[in-house]
Amino acid sequence: MVIELTESHVADVAGMPVRRALPRAGRRTVGAWCFVDHMGPLTAATDDGINAAPHPHIGLQTVTWLFQGEALHRDSLGTEQSIRPGQLNLMTAGRGIVHSEEGLGRNGAPVHGVQLWVAQPDRTRHGDSAFEHQSELPQFEAGALTGTTIVGDFAGAVSPARRDTDHVGVDLAIRPGRAVVELEPTFEYAIVVFDGAIDVAGDDVAVTPGHLAYLGSGRDELVLDAATTAHGLLLGGTPFESKISMWWNFVARTHDELETANRDWRSGSDRFVDPASPFARIASPNTPWSSSPK
Ligand code: MN
Repeated sequence: MVIELTESHVADVAGMPVRRALPRAGRRTVGAWCFVDHMGPLTAATDDGINAAPHPHIGLQTVTWLFQGEALHRDSLGTEQSIRPGQLNLMTAGRGIVHSEEGLGRNGAPVHGVQLWVAQPDRTRHGDSAFEHQSELPQFEAGALTGTTIVGDFAGAVSPARRDTDHVGVDLAIRPGRAVVELEPTFEYAIVVFDGAIDVAGDDVAVTPGHLAYLGSGRDELVLDAATTAHGLLLGGTPFESKISMWWNFVARTHDELETANRDWRSGSDRFVDPASPFARIASPNTPWSSSPK
């Protein structure tokens, strides 16, 4: 088995540097997972923390998973939900939603976590937006591993979270030692590490923060070794049904769809309703493929 190890690049989200592990050149999706941002640990410079002002999404689900700190989510459905470590905020954009994330790192408390996107299949991507908060998620023990199934079904632990495709996201908390878990051979998988190092036994690859290790498909077992305490995420799923077109906060299939969403955002269309946020909505950039934005 060959592992494809790629380096994350540093991106800026609301003035906060994040390590973006996905998408990568040549690797746009792992199952339906299409975006992985590792943020922090970071302490905000002001007492208000870092605020991601209201912005739109289409065609994707956001999966927010914190290791440290707290954040407040607000969206155009009227949701106001704070999130703490061990809890899941899952927002489904469908045809269109607007949300803000406030107070990341508020009161000087460090924030550390990950935000992921899941591409929605054709079946649901033009449908209604939705939001759910899961305050408790199932855990399992496997040798040196304490796993938490955030989304999907893994090692007998089934997450109650909505999923529109066959995919799985598992938090990996590893103590020094070895863990063996079963995989679904038809799924492709990847590992991202936030802290420490996780060795994929048999492949002789140590995965460390700032990298994505793509494991491919056809595996029925995963053997993980850690010399020290380590923390990461296992992502997997059936290879996504189609190629996606992703730009700014939108996931679609064509440039036309992205262009239309951008126009709808700029024109104040009722496709995108502002949440009850104290912050003003953000402006969108111009699409890079059209020289004269409409
Ligand atoms: Mn967002």
